[in-house]
Amino acid sequence: MVPAVLEERARRERLLAQGAGLAAACRKCEIGAQRRNNVYGEGDPCASLMVIGEGPGETEDLLGRPFVGRAGQLLDKMLAAIGFAREEIYICNTVKCRPTLPGPRGPKNRAPDVAEMANCRPFLDEQIDIIRPRVIMALGAPAAKSFLGRDFAITKMRGRWYEGPAGIPLMVTFHPAYVLRQTGGELTAVKRMVWADLQAVRAKLDEPLPVPEPAPPEQASLF
Ligand code: URA
Repeated sequence: MVPAVLEERARRERLLAQGAGLAAACRKCEIGAQRRNNVYGEGDPCASLMVIGEGPGETEDLLGRPFVGRAGQLLDKMLAAIGFAREEIYICNTVKCRPTLPGPRGPKNRAPDVAEMANCRPFLDEQIDIIRPRVIMALGAPAAKSFLGRDFAITKMRGRWYEGPAGIPLMVTFHPAYVLRQTGGELTAVKRMVWADLQAVRAKLDEPLPVPEPAPPEQASLF
């Protein structure tokens, strides 16, 4: 007999593969026709931690995988610092296609706009619903705003717990690409804040799982 956990993993893998297929076929936004690859997301379908970034960049668009460029390498280090290998978590973005602006030397990355995030939201919600992580970590202001509203100010409001989608605890920290752009004292300060946020995530995940209420004993029928 196949153990229930393996069946559940296979069920989630199937659902995620269906979602990825639908996202790849989506052309609701212009960027759907401009991108090379759809970047749906990857990782453990039974992950306790889900990391949500902004949108694919050039390397992600080329390879069809999230966070595989320089920011991704830093993300891997951030995760390793709290004891996670990349394969143990689930990583995706608020939008699945690379948002770009035309530039003199080819398309340049830009933040996704509100309409793009809204168009892509059903894919993201479905991923959250399938994986049901214990914690979501949003990277950067655009991802945070997509959950917490336009007034979210990352410098003041990161590092606290919020109620995220489906009531899942949500932590916001700086995007690794932002960290990479800092130098000197700013870099030290930002690294310290990111480290505090990561430790809060680790501590939340180390909390014991609530013990499920025992099922009431079967009522003997009186009649
Ligand atoms: N930045 C993001 O927000 N997502 C990626 O997948 C890569 C870089």
